[in-house]
Amino acid sequence: MKSTPALANPQAKINLMGLDRRALEGFFVERGEKPFRARQVLKWIHGRGIVDFEAMTDLSKLLRERLSRTAEITVLKEARSQKSADGTRKWLLELADGNRIETVFIPEARRGTLCVSSQVGCALNCAFCATARQGFSRNLTAGEIVAQVWHAHRILGDGHISNVVLMGMGEPLLNFDAVVSALDLMMDDLAYGFAKRRVTVSTAGLVPAILRLGQQSDASLAVSLHATTDALRNELVPINRKYPLAQLMDACYQFIHMERQKGRKITWEYVLLDGVNDSGEDARRLIKLLSNIPSKINLIPFNRFEGAPYRCPPTERIARFQAILQEAGFLTTVRKTRGDDIDAACGQLVGKVQAKSRPRREYKLAVELP
Ligand code: SAH
Repeated sequence: MKSTPALANPQAKINLMGLDRRALEGFFVERGEKPFRARQVLKWIHGRGIVDFEAMTDLSKLLRERLSRTAEITVLKEARSQKSADGTRKWLLELADGNRIETVFIPEARRGTLCVSSQVGCALNCAFCATARQGFSRNLTAGEIVAQVWHAHRILGDGHISNVVLMGMGEPLLNFDAVVSALDLMMDDLAYGFAKRRVTVSTAGLVPAILRLGQQSDASLAVSLHATTDALRNELVPINRKYPLAQLMDACYQFIHMERQKGRKITWEYVLLDGVNDSGEDARRLIKLLSNIPSKINLIPFNRFEGAPYRCPPTERIARFQAILQEAGFLTTVRKTRGDDIDAACGQLVGKVQAKSRPRREYKLAVELP
């Protein structure tokens, strides 16, 4: 259940930006209005990009006035906008409390992918990720997650964004409820209407939340695997100490066989670190791990950031790793490094975090896990 801020503070306006269709219908019904008002307002906010109640001309004047008094539609302030030589866009967006997050748009020949953040900073402390260095401040609200899509859509116009990935800052499954509401809006025909296969949640491997996601959302799943043994994964992705590989693979097997996921595949993200996880032996272990799961593999050559203790493998080594997986029948792509001239590539997003907890040296998690 969502707790409305109005209950805590009767004067506080309710932010409609993050209310999915069900929640918005509830909002109107509670106020003695017809539920179809939700459909009208969804179209205004997300379809047409209108956030001024006065402009919502198919609502009565009285209702518009009432909404202006009791509700708001909060957008994010653009602190900075950058465009890479390859067309990648990055926006630094400011939240009401002064925290800043990053959102990236990656145009390709046949699709445009928006990479959205789910938290301010991140608590998971993966060894090769720049966001981890920022520490963790707080979860984004559903409104703040959706407002990133709203912002990019408003600037780019219709028809540019075809895919959304929750691969920006943060671990989406540690912000479960807000993420699920935001996903619903992204896939709702009255809001953004993205196809289910084109909305993807990426997780470092929160096992219980993977199963809940499969029950509660139609979104697709990507898993940041990065290692094929517990010993190495414990170092690279420390959440593995809580949910080791066997549990993770079991949860993923269950997930992809759920009714809502029929015919789909799990995307495995595998960052290639020179001399660390890029041997033929690693590739063969990967094949074995994924043998009974419908899979596609996305290899991500390591993106540098200041102070990082890793390097990207040479091109031939990446190609060899890919070839081994392809020969075993796996659809395997190497993610092109996009937007690295503006630090918009995977693992380079840092925003500006007023961190409450700093990562500790020994790769401990910065928060209590569920
Ligand atoms: N916390 C979620 C969402 C972040 S997605 C997750 O872990 O899946 C961002 C992706 O970029 C993840 O696969 C992450 O492991 C990867 N990544 C992080 N730092 C990177 C780097 N320096 N180079 C390449 N990929 C990186």
